Amino acid sequence: MTITLLGVPYDGSSSFLRGAAGGPAALRAALRSESSNSWNEDEQDVLPLLEDAGDLALAGITDPRPLIEARVDTLMRSGATPLLIGGDHSITWPIVRAVRRQLPRLTILHLDAHPDLYDALDGDRGSHGSPFARIMEEGLANQLVQCGIRTINQHQRDQAHRFGVEIHTMRSGIEAMIAAARRLEGPVYLSLDLDILDPAHAPGISHPEPGGLSTREVIRIVQAIPLGRLVAADLVELNPVNDVRDLTARVGAKLVKEIVGRL
Ligand code: MN
Ligand code: MN
Repeated sequence: MTITLLGVPYDGSSSFLRGAAGGPAALRAALRSESSNSWNEDEQDVLPLLEDAGDLALAGITDPRPLIEARVDTLMRSGATPLLIGGDHSITWPIVRAVRRQLPRLTILHLDAHPDLYDALDGDRGSHGSPFARIMEEGLANQLVQCGIRTINQHQRDQAHRFGVEIHTMRSGIEAMIAAARRLEGPVYLSLDLDILDPAHAPGISHPEPGGLSTREVIRIVQAIPLGRLVAADLVELNPVNDVRDLTARVGAKLVKEIVGRL
């Protein structure tokens, strides 16, 4: 089985700060940094398992969604396992479209400080605050499980009810999130927004939201996904402009390695 690492250097749907377009390059540098080796906690050497397909060429393109969807569609049809590196969270909608096309059902595990269920944000229905509204409207997921949420407002609470979203907020605690991950029925898509982490652990993001998880707690959730269930994943919202001594890029690289262990 080939796991294909594909970067999506796009931040045109970010609502507050740009910079996530630099995420793929920063993450790759951390993944290959000699400060660490390339093994994960499943004691696998990750780099030989990854086929790095580079970044999608998006220069001069205003709407990258058709390109993202087409490329992931090609990967899925070839039998590869896509592991996407963002980029802002808007990229998840076209990715999931392509992934779901090859599968009879899909469960999504979404790790984030934010529910990203806005019908529109700043008038933009393609915003990085809206991908899961589009995904649920299109019936792309049979079940959406969100963990780490700590910014829900009335509109997004209404949207969560409308779509039947299972939400595990920060107040519900880490053990509830791990239990939810263990219960996941396959096939599972993982969407990991780095702002689920407390900004003390991962400052290099666009919407720092205090009161989040530690690096170890996010690793515990990823490792709780039952083996054989995960079919594709994304890791989004790394913003090197806000990073401190590559700390967040290193956290992202660590999480990529642990995600590979589940794939
Ligand atoms: Mn998000
Ligand atoms: Mn977020």
